[in-house]
Amino acid sequence: MSDLNYDCRNIKIKSETASVLVQKAIAAIGKNEIKKGNLIWLELTGCSGNIISLLNGADPDFRNLATQMVNFVYDNSLMAAEGELAMDKLFGAIGSDFILAAEGAVSTKSDGLFNIIGRWRGRPVTALDAVKKLGEKAAHVIAVGTCASSGGISAARPNPSGCAPVQSLLNRKVIKLPGCPCHPDWFLGTLAYTLLFGEPALDGAGRPLMFYSTLIHDICPRRPFFNQGVFASQLGEETCMFKLGCRGPVTRVDCPIRKWNNHVNWPIGANTPCIGCAMFGFPDKMEPFISYDIAR
Ligand code: SF4
Repeated sequence: MSDLNYDCRNIKIKSETASVLVQKAIAAIGKNEIKKGNLIWLELTGCSGNIISLLNGADPDFRNLATQMVNFVYDNSLMAAEGELAMDKLFGAIGSDFILAAEGAVSTKSDGLFNIIGRWRGRPVTALDAVKKLGEKAAHVIAVGTCASSGGISAARPNPSGCAPVQSLLNRKVIKLPGCPCHPDWFLGTLAYTLLFGEPALDGAGRPLMFYSTLIHDICPRRPFFNQGVFASQLGEETCMFKLGCRGPVTRVDCPIRKWNNHVNWPIGANTPCIGCAMFGFPDKMEPFISYDIAR
């Protein structure tokens, strides 16, 4: 129990990180100490699950972002403009001070023609074009979600469209927020920190330490079961799922304390083993997601 109590004490402190940073950023903007950022959000080759996840933020929420923290210049799912007008807004940002957030991997095969995000001045604009043009000019580039960070499901075998992570297309540092999808707090906290202080402290893989410094296994509420050798033999047993193939021991992110849907629950809390969606190499290197062979 002592492990569990220790983890619980950390919950309060760490789960507030994003909220505190966003409030600080909004206050600093209100006092003209810093400027509102210009934000461009590109949806590349993926499921657009990260922008949907962002809309699900609670504290901070999307309204904090869009009304008080940034000028939301472009996102194809959320903006009213469409067609050439939307593309004008996108490429019109070049030359201004802006932050680029990109979700999805970048389709590179056939000069990127597997993913056309719009037409501008009569020509197709590929995701590859957009990432290269905007990524070189942005003040900061944030790869949102696993596909943008490391290829993810979009680049999984056999990867027919040659999907690649954002970093591989740009000769500059990219802040990476892996997770399928990215938690709203991870993005909003990172963005707020960046507006306030510049680039946050990153680990060797480019992930902000404030969210990605702990292994799920080390702060999992079921860790006492692991320590005592009490393992689930089938889904639904509320003990450690290590022998069912849980990837918590190799997955570095703070899901156990942050949880999802306004801190309601998270995969292990719902009796599902962690599948390592926030780890580089997901999904190919994390399969099989569940194994009954080990448990028996
Ligand atoms: S193996 Fe999985 S369920 Fe068991 S303690 Fe580690 S993270 Fe939790």
